[in-house]
Amino acid sequence: MPTDLANPVELAQALIRCKSVTPTEGGAQTLLEGVLKPLGFTCHRLTMREPGTPDVENLYARLGSDGPHLCFAGHTDVVNAGDEAAWSHPPFAAVIEDNILFGRGAVDMKGGIACFLAATIAHLKENGGLTRGSLSFLITGDEESVAINGTRKLLQWLKSREERIDACLVGEPTSADTLGDEIKIGRRGYLNATVIVEGKQGHSAYGEKADNPIPKLARIIDRLASAPLDNGTRHFQKTSLEPTIISVPNTATNVIPGTARANFNIRYNDLHNRQSLEAWVRDQCHAAAKGAKVNVSFEGSGDVFLTEPGPFVQLMSSAVQTITGRQAALTTNGGTSDARFIKDLCPVVEFGLRNATAHQIDERVPIADLMTLTAIYRRFIADFFTRPDSEPKAGGKAL
Ligand SMILES: [Zn+2]
Repeated sequence: MPTDLANPVELAQALIRCKSVTPTEGGAQTLLEGVLKPLGFTCHRLTMREPGTPDVENLYARLGSDGPHLCFAGHTDVVNAGDEAAWSHPPFAAVIEDNILFGRGAVDMKGGIACFLAATIAHLKENGGLTRGSLSFLITGDEESVAINGTRKLLQWLKSREERIDACLVGEPTSADTLGDEIKIGRRGYLNATVIVEGKQGHSAYGEKADNPIPKLARIIDRLASAPLDNGTRHFQKTSLEPTIISVPNTATNVIPGTARANFNIRYNDLHNRQSLEAWVRDQCHAAAKGAKVNVSFEGSGDVFLTEPGPFVQLMSSAVQTITGRQAALTTNGGTSDARFIKDLCPVVEFGLRNATAHQIDERVPIADLMTLTAIYRRFIADFFTRPDSEPKAGGKAL
């Protein structure tokens, strides 16, 4: 347990020392519960299960029983350390050198959790508790892996209890070059496509008796990768389609293979949805294949979403500006996050540390960034609960 609870650095160090490589809990949620309970939070430890996947521990902690209800969402699981010998300091030792904290999860996202927790503690101390509304932590141990037993199931659980959340901050590392340069207000959707062209196997010296699928697959890849889907929208980049794998089950140079296959990863903006993209991919494949037999299948999709800039987004922008003087860009780029599930519940923004070293050897965060982020979160919490006409509207159910 950290000695100074209000210190984000000590909290971050204590969290990093919990070896919570996904989907292991590693003591990280026990640590958070140990800090939140004495502050008056009602804590629920929720183990989610699904056949064929490992059980995952999650934590939901709420202080207060009415609205407005602000929720902080995050994950305590981290990706593995990779080659531990390649680190400057052991990945779970939380060593500070030259005012930089090293460790797996330093930015993604134990650092962010520590900052929000420190900001919460400072806010409660300053005001003698919550003066109105509710504040909660929605913490999963299943974000970095398959995300089956994590936030998605937590949200179903909240729904079954008729818990109402009015607004949510996801503390993922969204900043790029400088802390405070980017706030994420949405994310692109993604979709994976598999295309298999069927031909007829044969001897390469007797090509006329076989049907080579490779040139057809090449035409399909070229067509899909070079056809522009759109030019981007107000808040989103262009939709991208990247061929990622080509495979032909063949080892002989004198055999024409019977099939050829390619995989594609699509990151799409708010002009598309899964259905429209599937139809588009099928049309392009059949047009390029010119009568050849093509099987197209899809898997692993995440919906595009956008929180339209409004009072809630403005609240985060102005907290960033007050503390850093920076005007954060409102962006939707990068990979996906659990915000894609939360967006069905309430307005959601994502803001946190710089992401440059996330998932890398020597993941690290300057102590100064931890202090600045704590100050930004503190401002954000104070403004959320003191706004005279609170948007989103009051709501919530007692635990
Ligand atoms: Zn993360």
